[in-house]
Order: sequence, then structure tokens, then C-alpha cells
Amino acid sequence: MSKKKKAVSRRPIVIGIPRAMLYHRYSVLWDSFFSGLGIGTVVSEPTTKGILEEGTSYAIDEACLATKIFLGHVKSLIGKCDYILIPRISNFGLQRSMCTKFEALYDMTVNTFRSTGQKFLSYNVDVKHRQDEEKAFLEMGIHLGFHRKEVQKAYKRAKKAELEDVKQKVKEQERLYQLPKTKILLAGHSYIIEDAYIGRPIQRMLERMDAVPIRADLTERKSALERSLKLSPTLKWEINREIAGGIYKKRNNVDGIILLSAFPCGPDSMVNEMIVRRNNGIPLLNLIMDGQDGDAGVETRIESFIDIIGFKKGKL
Ligand code: SF4
Repeated sequence: MSKKKKAVSRRPIVIGIPRAMLYHRYSVLWDSFFSGLGIGTVVSEPTTKGILEEGTSYAIDEACLATKIFLGHVKSLIGKCDYILIPRISNFGLQRSMCTKFEALYDMTVNTFRSTGQKFLSYNVDVKHRQDEEKAFLEMGIHLGFHRKEVQKAYKRAKKAELEDVKQKVKEQERLYQLPKTKILLAGHSYIIEDAYIGRPIQRMLERMDAVPIRADLTERKSALERSLKLSPTLKWEINREIAGGIYKKRNNVDGIILLSAFPCGPDSMVNEMIVRRNNGIPLLNLIMDGQDGDAGVETRIESFIDIIGFKKGKL
């Protein structure tokens, strides 16, 4: 009797993605990579006060606000997916390091939630040790049970989608410079600026005051990295370098700059101090969010800032 081969049915995998930290930079890459492999994803809901409070209860006091928010998002995904994705990204080469939090986040989170039985998934980028992004995705896909060729294909397609998305976003920012309104360059990490509880309310405040917020971090990344060396030839944090480069490119096309950061942030405190010292007379507001400020205090500071710009332009 001939033995019939049993059809192996692969149960669809669902990956949980915290809507925090690098999600705001890599959502298109991740979504398109996983969907290319037929993997479903579930993204946590936008940040609320409850998510922040939950995350704060799991974090050490010294953790930055972004880490606290991240842990709250992870908690909200526990039990709702097969794996929660937390990449470990160390660097993209010389002078292209990520904040050390991105190296530690996976281990810290796995340890924090070890009693829940939740499984986590990671990929490691460490170009200084010959582990680039493509290799990291390849290893992750193979670990999930896919063949090398299908993983390579999914990564290439996802990378193309990501580059196209960045290009579109940069184009959209360029359009904003043409508007006949007060233009404010908002400079900060995407996970602060885009966060529903921290950065979005600030963007809405500016819009209510008839100003246009424009993102310094949505810029052509390669040339921003090169320009950032004017601020400091030894600057090493990838994202801070992109933001600094974005400011240097556009500071003469805006009426004011808002540096928006999370408390306490090592890279921002150093780099923003340099930006403030090298500022060439453009009105600049340094806003450090700790998640506890009521909207009223921040709104008053932004209002005064917009008034100062109005005086400078002779509008008040
Ligand atoms: S760069 Fe700052 S805000 Fe971002 S993870 Fe590091 S310490 Fe936190």
C-alpha cells in the first residue's frame, strides 16, 4: 500500500507589535515583511494615560518616558499573539549607534514579563559585527520556519515599500514649507512626536494656533547624517544625527524650532544642548516631556513661544 504524504498545514502565526519606540520608524518594513510571509500582525492601541501608567508600574524609576510607554504597550499585547516583536538594534556601522536602550529592550522586556508565558521575537542588527539588517531579517524568518528564498523575497519587497514610504513622507513635509503660515520645525524622536499621548497633542496645539508643525526627522536620511557632522564630527547616535541634520537643512526655512524630548534622555540631553548653543538666533523652545505635565502648562509655553515669533515677525 502506497503511503500518502500527509499535508502539513501551517497554523497562521500572529505577531504582536507594540505601537511605541521603533514602530514609528519601521512599521511599513515590519508590516510588509510579515504580510509577505503570510504572517498576521496585531498592533497595540494608541497610547493612553492608562497605557503609560501600566508601563510605569513595570519600569524602574530611572527609565525614560519612551521605555515606560513601551512596556505599557507590551503589557497590552500579552496573550493576544504568538510572539511580540522587539528588535535588538545596536548600530548600523561606525558612528551610527542606536541609543543603548535599543540593545537592551528585548532582554529587559523578556525578563519583566517572564512569568506570563508570552513568547517574544527579535532580530539583531549589529553592523560593526557583520550583522546587517538583511541578515537579521533572514535569521528571523528562518527561525519562524520559512525557507531562505521566501524570506529574502519578503525582505526585499518590504525594504522597497519602506524606502517609498520615507520618500513620500519627506515629500509631504516639503509641501508644508510652502504654506503661508507660521512654520515650526518639530525636532524629536518619531516615537515621541507621533505618540498619541505625548507628541500628537502638541501638534494639535500648534495647529489650533494656526501654526504648521513640520518634522525635522522626516528628511532624506543619508544626507542628514552627513550634515549632522557640522554640529559635531564625533556625534554617534543615528537618530539624533538624522534629526540634527534635518534641523541644519531647514532651520532657515522656518519661524521657530521646538526640541521635543522625553525625560530622562541621555542622547537628547547632550545633542539638544549642542543644538541650543549653535542656534543662530531662531526662536527655539526646548520641551522635555515627563508624561505628568497637564496639557495646560505645555499649552501656555507653546502659546508664549508662538507670541514671541509673532512679535519678531511684527504681527503682534
Ligand atoms: S534616545 Fe532617549 S528617549 Fe529614546 S530610548 Fe534612548 S533614552 Fe529613551
